[in-house]
Amino acid sequence: MFDYMIVGAGLAGAVLAERLASQSNKKILLVDKRNHIGGNTFDYYNKDGLLVHKYGPHIFHTNSKEVFTYLGNFTQWRPYEHRVLASVDGMLVPIPINLNTINQLYGLNLNSAEVDAFLESKAEKKIKIVTSEDVVVNKVGRELYEKFFKGYTRKQWDLDPSELDASVTSRIPTRNNRDDRYFTDTYQAIPLYGYTRMFQKMLHHPNIKILLNTDYKEVQDSICYKNMIYTGPIDYFYDYCYGKLPYRSLEFKFETLEENVFQKTGTINYPNEHAYTRITEFKYLTGQKHPKTTVVYEFPKDEGDPYYPVPRAENALLYKRYRQLAEQENKIYFAGRLATYKYYNMDQVVAQALTLYKKIITPHEFAHHLNGHQLPIIQS
Ligand code: FAD
Ligand code: UDP
Repeated sequence: MFDYMIVGAGLAGAVLAERLASQSNKKILLVDKRNHIGGNTFDYYNKDGLLVHKYGPHIFHTNSKEVFTYLGNFTQWRPYEHRVLASVDGMLVPIPINLNTINQLYGLNLNSAEVDAFLESKAEKKIKIVTSEDVVVNKVGRELYEKFFKGYTRKQWDLDPSELDASVTSRIPTRNNRDDRYFTDTYQAIPLYGYTRMFQKMLHHPNIKILLNTDYKEVQDSICYKNMIYTGPIDYFYDYCYGKLPYRSLEFKFETLEENVFQKTGTINYPNEHAYTRITEFKYLTGQKHPKTTVVYEFPKDEGDPYYPVPRAENALLYKRYRQLAEQENKIYFAGRLATYKYYNMDQVVAQALTLYKKIITPHEFAHHLNGHQLPIIQS
């Protein structure tokens, strides 16, 4: 008899398995339909011996000391600050838009105060910021919006930014200084030996059994367990009873090249050309020394593995209906990006799982809402 069947061996499932097994002596069965642990963070050495991320580039960053320290129990870190260039007007310029971006693009030599005034003169001030278009046009105006955001967003989501919640493009700040890092979080690092190795350490415990290549629906009736933690898509859990929740997918095209370096920085974004959104070169992320190099192209698509919840009002409403079902469950908990339909980064998923663990083991301190839906989440 297992205390918990945990569905999904991604970050949400692995953190909960690790905590429940090692801190609360619970017996866990961790089930994943894929043939590996790690969920979307899974990395492996390809046939040329280069460490690559199977489901696209994963760069860890957080402001949460608790999350960083917790994961640090299972890995050493390699400090890494990600930098991204965007291909715009035949140039490669820094994104997020910063002082250098504006100066390069317009052949200017502005300082911080001047760039503020420049952007102010371009901005179309909105009374209410509702959509992803509003966010950008309100800050930098329509011209820069069209150069950097409109095409990229349409490719990535197959929606115009005006059809997406403000939260999507709000992920990308605008800066009046020369800081060209993609993230400014306090902690920015990649597991020194990769994500999969970190997961192996997390899950190496006599109380944790792992069942791969298995959809939980194939085994849930034949296995004895007292509680369930579910981290897959919530609409699938309820057999799509209210219809399908949209999740955006990607196709990854990997290429290994007989050269040491392919591009100038970790990622280059292509807002206005090509069917792909960006190219990432893994050696920047992993720090690996190798005579060859592997890059990945991301082609957004509708069908395929569910990677991104799509943040817009109508989807939030549909999710809410599923959430209401989830809230009525007894001994079934929902966590992670797919089950709580939230566009979370890795650190937010870890924080959500750690909070859910505390709630599960000390329920008297948390009278209501024992699943991940209402948990307070750190902001990245
Ligand atoms: P997942 O990792 O998706 O794990 C869910 C698991 O459940 C999967 O392994 C799946 O196979 C399994 N599962 C689903 N249904 C079933 C079923 N019926 N039966 C059995 N198993 C099932 N975050 C960052 O912080 N930094 C980044 O740079 C970053 N880059 C990203 C790039 C891409 C292309 C994508 C898609 C995401 C990126 N993320 C990034 C987000 C990050 O991947 C997620 O926050 C995190 O991995 C989510 O963990 P999870 O456990 O919720 O979900
Ligand atoms: N975005 C954009 N142009 C860019 C980078 C980002 O329009 O050069 C928008 C786009 O809608 C994207 C969102 O901002 O989906 C969030 O970008 P992020 O890099 O955080 O996406 P992720 O890494 O999660 O795919």
